[in-house]
Amino acid sequence: MVLKDVLSKGIEILRNAKIETPEVDAGVILCSVLKCDRVFLYTHSDDDLDDGVMKRFFDAISSRSSGMPVQYITGRQEFMSLEFNVNSHVLIPRHDTEVLVETVMAFAENCRPSGHALQILDIGTGSGCIAVSLAYYIENCHVTAVDISEEAIKTAYENSEINGVKHKIDFKRSNLFESLKGERFDIIVSNPPYIPAGDIGGLQKEVKDFEPLTALDGGEDGLNFYRAIIAEAPDFLKPDGLIAFEVGYNQAGAVSEMLRDCFYGVGTVKDLGGIDRVVYGRCKGSING
Ligand code: GLN
Repeated sequence: MVLKDVLSKGIEILRNAKIETPEVDAGVILCSVLKCDRVFLYTHSDDDLDDGVMKRFFDAISSRSSGMPVQYITGRQEFMSLEFNVNSHVLIPRHDTEVLVETVMAFAENCRPSGHALQILDIGTGSGCIAVSLAYYIENCHVTAVDISEEAIKTAYENSEINGVKHKIDFKRSNLFESLKGERFDIIVSNPPYIPAGDIGGLQKEVKDFEPLTALDGGEDGLNFYRAIIAEAPDFLKPDGLIAFEVGYNQAGAVSEMLRDCFYGVGTVKDLGGIDRVVYGRCKGSING
């Protein structure tokens, strides 16, 4: 079969499976199988495709028909203009999370610590999209990236290699602060799991059936990880250090409230959709000095 007919067939299968963007998805999948760019699909539309390529394409189309996100099929997602490997062990990086990265970058710009590299901690690093982007864009910094999942740490490490910043990041398997005793950071950043447990069943199939539940489930009210992180953060932050979270829809007020005891300068930043997406504050100082 020639390329354009293979592509049309793929589009038709996705359309019948009620996939929302059949043309885009089939095109992205075919590009990934052929390791080519979009333009190639038009300039080589009459090329004959061999059986191996067709099998890989239609297998991938069938995965997409069952709801698997395109990013898990191609194994790739772009974030902060960088390329990231993704797999079923990690959340697919979301563009909304770029607001969190940009908030931290702006803070870093204004608080050049004299001489020493800015020490940043990313809790629940997943694919490493936050840690790697910060290491990439902030010149004099060192990032510690932790996750409870060994598989996530492996993926984040790969992503630090792909983007040439592995020398700027330490990866540790850690349940929140568990493996970090005695360390102090200038910045703690986290996009923790924040979906209320009862809402997970109502999420779209792509998310609830394919993304890791441990990366989504924030407990009964969705706020468990904010509570746990905020309770310990003052012991791991330098005085005036920054804490910055991504929060879910409608959570900014509650998370800001939680911060007020031990943090000052609490504020929020909206995402492109106008939703309060980031909550941040500065550490008043820790109980243990
Ligand atoms: N830090 C990763 C991200 O922002 C993973 C977040 C998560 O798994 N909740 O995509």
